[in-house]
Amino acid sequence: MRDGKKEKRGRLPLFYPHQLLKRITDLDPQALWFMGVRGIILDVDNTLTTHNSPVPGEGVMDWLQRAEACGLKRIILSNNTPDRVRPFAEMLGLGFTANGKKPLPSGVRRAAREMGLSASETALIGDQIFTDVLAGRLAGAVSILVEPIEPETAAFFRLKRRLEAPILKRYQRRLTALGGRRPDKTEGGIK
Ligand SMILES: [Mg+2]
Repeated sequence: MRDGKKEKRGRLPLFYPHQLLKRITDLDPQALWFMGVRGIILDVDNTLTTHNSPVPGEGVMDWLQRAEACGLKRIILSNNTPDRVRPFAEMLGLGFTANGKKPLPSGVRRAAREMGLSASETALIGDQIFTDVLAGRLAGAVSILVEPIEPETAAFFRLKRRLEAPILKRYQRRLTALGGRRPDKTEGGIK
């Protein structure tokens, strides 16, 4: 079995996040701090809010304040356009990079630098495997995948979700094999 081989080598496949959650608000910012994370890099669409919504999702403002209170720096990194990202980021009072080119790791590294951190001191939180998870993993960040807030209707997104499904299924099986323990960062073969 392919997964079995990878597991023997002790490496976490690049498409796997370090943690999978339903919503960003389910994440404990203090736990991130204890993992050595000092800054979080946030996707916008379907992570902080629904596609094209100008306001954050339920509980998101409070969660961002809790993260700040824990000492975590925060920045937005979105593949969407500046027209979409700027007003949203400004409303949250956060810096941002639009046209972020995820899954390329360069945007993650730049976002980390803007917070005065290295990528390995950051966690990237997003809802897509082929952009958010891959970008975070390639950059050496902690990767946290959240379920999309609402299903996308565009054909391009529906295709991506169909391609994600078998990866998520294998990931869930692996979590079960680990007895529910989430893979920690060292299993990914990254620092
Ligand atoms: Mg997204």
